[in-house]
Amino acid sequence: MSDFIPSIGLEVHVQLKTRTKMFCACAAHDEGEPNTAVCPVCLGLPGAMPVINREAIRKTAKVGLMIGSEISLRSTFDRKNYFYPDMSKNYQITQQALPLCIGGTVEIEVGGQKKVIRVHHIHQEEDVAKSTHMETSTEIDFNRASMALMELVTEPDMASPDEAVAFLTALKEMLIYADISDCNLEMGHVRCDVNSSIRPVGTDPLGVKSELKNMNTFKGIHRALTYELERQVQTLRAGGTLAQETRRWDDEAGITLPMRSKEYAHDYRYFPEPDLPPVVLTPDRVAAWRAELPELPAARRKRFIQDYRLPEYDAGVLTADKAIADYFEAVAQASGNFKAASNWVMGELLRALGEKGLSIGEVKITPTALAQLIGLVDAKTISSSAAKDVFQVLFDEGGDPAAVVKQKGLAQVSDTGALDDFAAQAIQANEKVVADFQSGKEAALQFLVGQVMKLSRGKANPQLAAEALRKQLSR
Ligand code: ZN
Ligand code: MN
Repeated sequence: MSDFIPSIGLEVHVQLKTRTKMFCACAAHDEGEPNTAVCPVCLGLPGAMPVINREAIRKTAKVGLMIGSEISLRSTFDRKNYFYPDMSKNYQITQQALPLCIGGTVEIEVGGQKKVIRVHHIHQEEDVAKSTHMETSTEIDFNRASMALMELVTEPDMASPDEAVAFLTALKEMLIYADISDCNLEMGHVRCDVNSSIRPVGTDPLGVKSELKNMNTFKGIHRALTYELERQVQTLRAGGTLAQETRRWDDEAGITLPMRSKEYAHDYRYFPEPDLPPVVLTPDRVAAWRAELPELPAARRKRFIQDYRLPEYDAGVLTADKAIADYFEAVAQASGNFKAASNWVMGELLRALGEKGLSIGEVKITPTALAQLIGLVDAKTISSSAAKDVFQVLFDEGGDPAAVVKQKGLAQVSDTGALDDFAAQAIQANEKVVADFQSGKEAALQFLVGQVMKLSRGKANPQLAAEALRKQLSR
């Protein structure tokens, strides 16, 4: 690759979280028997008239506002004509001439290097029906037909599979934060066409591009791009030429295969959609949508570093998922111990979630309970190792930390009478260590504290144990 520079551009289709479909009142959801959420409009029956879904427009415009696009105060719909069984009216309603959002940028970070990826535009369109290819037939489900999609088209600014995946990850983070889409990849909520080309180092124009259609996992995109860029390099090195073409990723074989020579935009005979008026927005409307935007991951990261004095690493981990970030904030505020809140969430909580394959929404330990647990450690009522046991109980069963501590007998022994007894026993049994301590070896005390911990079966408060020992040793 070293004598070639890759250029990668993405066309990202995202299913918007709307109650109804893009141009009709049919329910837009992933569940339900095939072909039950359908009507004449989304089945493409003759004479059925589409109506624009305002919620979809609002969501797409908000994505534009998040990435700094210019929002078109007047945008229009076009027909993209083609023949395929997944689009029974033989055209897709989309935006070509005047899309809703123009320009914008998304910042990514790969290997500690920040890079700005330019977005060409975002347009509004409708999804097509879902085809399932069987052995001798194809089954078509129109429940997905005409669901609201936004399509975001980037400039070819990414130069590696890592950068492409970083872009998609950053975008997905934002879309989930702002409740634009669930971005469930298994459900096909995010589908990408991946364009890639290579050019010799020191040359300017982009090379001949190939397009990988309909990629829906980030891992698949990474593997496919790695393969595809290498294939292009090998072809040129062997003296071959590259064709502008659409290729398909065969995930099992781990290779890309030619599908068809790439069609050009004019092949689709785009023309203005005669059945829909333009989308006209006022600056006030756009300003109101801007005001609805949530705090974005990058801003939240900065705030976590400032307000909670967290290391950049912690802030990055905690804000990668909005629900985790919300949970952390609740624990931090209720406990007042920010770093402990971060340690517990990043450590025990994420570990336990991963182990059980649960999402944060499903956990039984409430932020309040975790904050109380932190309080118990801070007050030295329980040791940090006992706290981990309590955490596990709360994680599995929920409940009140103080009650669990009591029930399990995990409270630290802070009763000085009991501690004095343990200290006396430790001193008696370790004459040599005591002599060492008395000859000035301060470290010998730690050994004795350890003995007290052992005698108390881990329940002694280590600080009070040290005090009890000192008191007796100084006599
Ligand atoms: Zn419908
Ligand atoms: Mn599209």
